[in-house]
Amino acid sequence: MLSILRKARLKDKEMRILMLGLDNAGKTTIVKKIMQEDVNTVSPTLGFIIKTIEFQGYKLNIWDVGGQKTLRSYWRNYFEKTDALVWVVDATDRLRMDDCREELAGLLLEERLMGASLLVFLNKTDVEGCMDENEVRQGLRLDEIKTHKWTIFRCSAMTGLNLHEGLEWLVQDAKDRLFLY
Ligand code: GDP
Repeated sequence: MLSILRKARLKDKEMRILMLGLDNAGKTTIVKKIMQEDVNTVSPTLGFIIKTIEFQGYKLNIWDVGGQKTLRSYWRNYFEKTDALVWVVDATDRLRMDDCREELAGLLLEERLMGASLLVFLNKTDVEGCMDENEVRQGLRLDEIKTHKWTIFRCSAMTGLNLHEGLEWLVQDAKDRLFLY
């Protein structure tokens, strides 16, 4: 049933994208940059923000949900009807890699996220000495993920690097799925 609804929405060229990650990863800044808003005036997301953008003929509803530990238990309220999960990782935050991996692993067990594809945005790669894709791929054990279609893109919400490429992957994935079931 869920997959039929999902497909109907994808046919309407509409996608619901849930953007999650630990606090301070840069989720809100990424959304702002994509919306071409000023990225220097970001304050922590305490609740959630929904932004809709038109991208390559698709209407993308992006849900940016706060990532502080106290807020994480509320994430599950946003799972319904999610087509894609964008997991934002702070490339400068080596210390919280275990936390980051555990939170992601927990999400991937959620039944309501089962059909969603996963885009990992390795953000803040404009910062010198940050982690690269390989380090994070291993740190998050991405190669062990068999339940979701996934990819990883290094990006920067400051320079805009790869933000569009990431969205392109999501849209292409939505198109591919229309022919799958
Ligand atoms: P959120 O809690 O995940 O929504 O994170 P925010 O979007 O509030 O960003 C947290 C902090 O990281 C802010 O001070 C941003 O300016 C900074 N930040 C976000 N993205 C980048 C980036 O790509 N590069 C750099 N250097 N700083 C970033």
